[in-house]
Amino acid sequence: MKKLVFVTGGVCSSLGKGITASSIGALLESRGLSVRMMKIDPYLNVDAGTMSPYQHGEVYVTDDGGETDLDLGNYARFTNAPISKANSITTGQIYRDVINKEREGRFLGRTVQVVPHITDEIKSRILALGKEPDVDVTIVEIGGTVGDMESIPFLEAARQLIHEQGRSDAVSVHVTLVPEVAGGELKTKPTQHSVKELQEVGIQPDVLVCRSDVRLDEALRRKLSAFTNVEYEGVISAYDAPTTIYELPLVFHEQKLDEFLLRKMNVESRHANLSAWTDVVRRIREPKRSLTIGMVGKYMELGDSYKSVYAALQHGGIANDAAVDIRRVDSGALEEPGADPAVILAGIDAILVPGGFGQRGINGMVAAARYAREQGLPYLGICLGMQIMAIEWGRNVLGWADADSTEFNQDTPHPVVSLLADQVNIKHFGGTMRLGSNESIFAKSSHAAVAYGSDTVSERHRHRYEFTNQYRSDYERTGMKIAGTTRDGELVECLEWPDHPWGVGVQFHPEFKSRPVAPHPLFSAFIKAGLERSAARA
Ligand code: GLN
Repeated sequence: MKKLVFVTGGVCSSLGKGITASSIGALLESRGLSVRMMKIDPYLNVDAGTMSPYQHGEVYVTDDGGETDLDLGNYARFTNAPISKANSITTGQIYRDVINKEREGRFLGRTVQVVPHITDEIKSRILALGKEPDVDVTIVEIGGTVGDMESIPFLEAARQLIHEQGRSDAVSVHVTLVPEVAGGELKTKPTQHSVKELQEVGIQPDVLVCRSDVRLDEALRRKLSAFTNVEYEGVISAYDAPTTIYELPLVFHEQKLDEFLLRKMNVESRHANLSAWTDVVRRIREPKRSLTIGMVGKYMELGDSYKSVYAALQHGGIANDAAVDIRRVDSGALEEPGADPAVILAGIDAILVPGGFGQRGINGMVAAARYAREQGLPYLGICLGMQIMAIEWGRNVLGWADADSTEFNQDTPHPVVSLLADQVNIKHFGGTMRLGSNESIFAKSSHAAVAYGSDTVSERHRHRYEFTNQYRSDYERTGMKIAGTTRDGELVECLEWPDHPWGVGVQFHPEFKSRPVAPHPLFSAFIKAGLERSAARA
């Protein structure tokens, strides 16, 4: 069995196509099927690696070092599907590959065109993902909104695949908005128009996932069905999930979306087992305790810049039956003249400093780290957050006021974080960082080793700078623990404060591997330490 599910969006962007695609993946898995997930981004960037968080939110990093769209993080949280570079395609990649083939003379003198050459390239990338023998269903999310000129080649590729494979082997799910106008009336017209636009490019949706504040009633679903040629059972109401997005697989299941899709695809499967998701939703709904995490960084005004970190914190809460209240602190606030960390960070049970690039806000993060270290507040530093621990220790414990990373001050006499020698002259930006999975070895009985229950782990990286090895002895002499390194011992992967309840910095990004049904051990341990602090405070 090899099936394709295309997920498109209409009316406007940000309707949650990614969450919809992910929830469908979770539902099909709950029926025992093996799925693969793919995101198509119709922009010209080759990958998301060079894009600002302000433009595009978080960059999701894969094991093989892909810098991809944040929707891949949703796929990884909702499904067991393996995620690599192959799961993400952009217009930039497709054109680059086709033009490279043209330059190599592989088109034998023919005129190279959008149809068929670009569309063939897209189709072969989609089909390649499902080639492994165990794959049952490939779910392909087409980014953008139907009607955008950028998505046309991708929709054409989808149309061809539906035509070639047949409607029972390739189905279309269209996500739209049913807005409410004054007086509380729900309007179907935008959805009708959006489906017409999809039909104009030759795709008849099999399923409509309709976003709305309140649940659509039967009359409205019948009306949508009548106007769009979608069967009544295929019109699904994705009303705002009451507590958490993790409820969406359950909301869909309750409306029999899985049953309907399987019928469309002529697939027999076992009954759905959604107990893991029911359990996640219950734990989020009925927490036994709560705590406040202060997240100190940049891009704090944007909900998407640290999507996986926010998610992983919530998962850490699930593991501890706790509600996690995240207070976002712009590190700039800690740099204002006379700023008092004790005031700004009052009421916070634990501090997380996430990854980041560039000089702005660094001193504020250093102030937060110092406060956490001196006050015994649990601290988790991720990537930049570990480098901040190194800078703070250099400045305040070793007494080098000028200790810095060469990312922020190239001429500092104490470059405690710096580039490796072979990286100094890199002028090319895309894909030149230390990217993807790498093994870390932790010191026995370090907080990290205890949290993981193992002294060897593999986690993903995305950074250029490293702790500077020549300073290791100074740090260790003054008590800082080099709690983890790469297997060869060459690079520092983890720092831990001495005589502190839980102060851990890691050079890698654990957040990418956390799932609501399998919270990440480092986040679970961090939340646990925060809860202990919160209990002590009370
Ligand atoms: N800017 C730092 C570096 O490049 C940290 C990167 C990060 O936090 N992802 O090493």
